[in-house]
Amino acid sequence: MTPLDPNLQSFVDVPTGSDFPIHNLPYGVFRPSAGTQPRIGVAIGSEVLDLSVLADRGLLAGTAFREPTLNAFMALGRPAWREARQSLTRLLRHDEPTLRDDSGLRDAAFHSMASVEMLLPAAIGDYTDFYSSREHATNVGTMFRGPDNALQENWLHLPVGYHGRSSSVVVSGTDVRRPKGQTKADDADSPSFGPSRLMDFELEMGFFVGPGNALGEPIPIDEASEHIFGMVLVNDWSARDIQKWEYVPLGPFLGKNFGTSISPWVVTMEALEPFRCAGPAQDDPEPLDYLKNPGDCAYDIPLEVLLQSEHMDAPETIATSNFKYMYWSICQQLAHHTVNGCNAQPGDLLGSGTISGPDKHERGSMLELSWRGTETVELANGETRKFLADGDTVIMRGHCEVAGIRIGFGEVSGKLMPANV
Ligand code: MN
Repeated sequence: MTPLDPNLQSFVDVPTGSDFPIHNLPYGVFRPSAGTQPRIGVAIGSEVLDLSVLADRGLLAGTAFREPTLNAFMALGRPAWREARQSLTRLLRHDEPTLRDDSGLRDAAFHSMASVEMLLPAAIGDYTDFYSSREHATNVGTMFRGPDNALQENWLHLPVGYHGRSSSVVVSGTDVRRPKGQTKADDADSPSFGPSRLMDFELEMGFFVGPGNALGEPIPIDEASEHIFGMVLVNDWSARDIQKWEYVPLGPFLGKNFGTSISPWVVTMEALEPFRCAGPAQDDPEPLDYLKNPGDCAYDIPLEVLLQSEHMDAPETIATSNFKYMYWSICQQLAHHTVNGCNAQPGDLLGSGTISGPDKHERGSMLELSWRGTETVELANGETRKFLADGDTVIMRGHCEVAGIRIGFGEVSGKLMPANV
């Protein structure tokens, strides 16, 4: 079977333009209704298929789908992921009667996506965030240091990253509160305390670690893909004024760790395989041997950022970008992260860093869209933004498509609430 077989169809109705045809089958964790136990599901069309029900009936192997998170399944590795995908594809095919013709089983196993509560897909032990878009790093570096020193000396030699905070990673739909903190204006003699005035989003994607590595035993780059389960959309909310004052010399802290939103459906690398492509050339300089990509490691995933203020009836696109712009690949990120022996574990989340592109409309943050507040982003209803306002909802979407078949991520959405009084 080719990864995107056009003859592959499900008996489940998949609306035109759905992110979730039978070719996708992303995993998530949901509750059918308030108070019920979390369970693992797969998205298809506008439905969620409860995998715990299929596991209980012996239609899926093993016990991983009876867990309340995807960690155990992530830990099993690629052979188990492939087997589950094959089983699910077969069970959902239009010509397979097992599920299609058993109305009792269907009633027990399917839920309307609109009726369920999505939860975080994994218990995220550790969250690491990179800074892997050359365009983003160049934009930010140009703003703060000028075009001649935009990239720091190390940037083209290693994927710069920092350890984020997993406790504040939240699922799409969760409100995010404007943080208070310590800031210092350029012309002020001393810092002050109060709500951040420079609230921002960061358009990112992230991947979940699969089996991972033992402490002290790095993951070689040519084995990295065996440890990458799947991807989600990430909004890495940022308070630029807090970040600017605090980051010297140890890096991001309270300006970054108050909230990171992710989309609920984890799209597997198997589903994304048809969209794997070459990344940016890395010949000047070439990376060190431990960071040389074993082949094409980029993915062509068009991305979109939308904003809806409290005065708008519908969200409006304010930026587009593409995951393929990333200079450092996910394989390079994982190989670099573990090269010192640091152990990556099932369910760890590794963020890409802000994904900006070469064009002006491909800037993945308000910091870049407003060029540090020197330019204005105009909205269709006449409102303007340099940074985010209270009540703004930020939505990120992404999907790849070939021959009318769409592999999509759904969306990550979050509303910015006013700071606590
Ligand atoms: Mn970030």
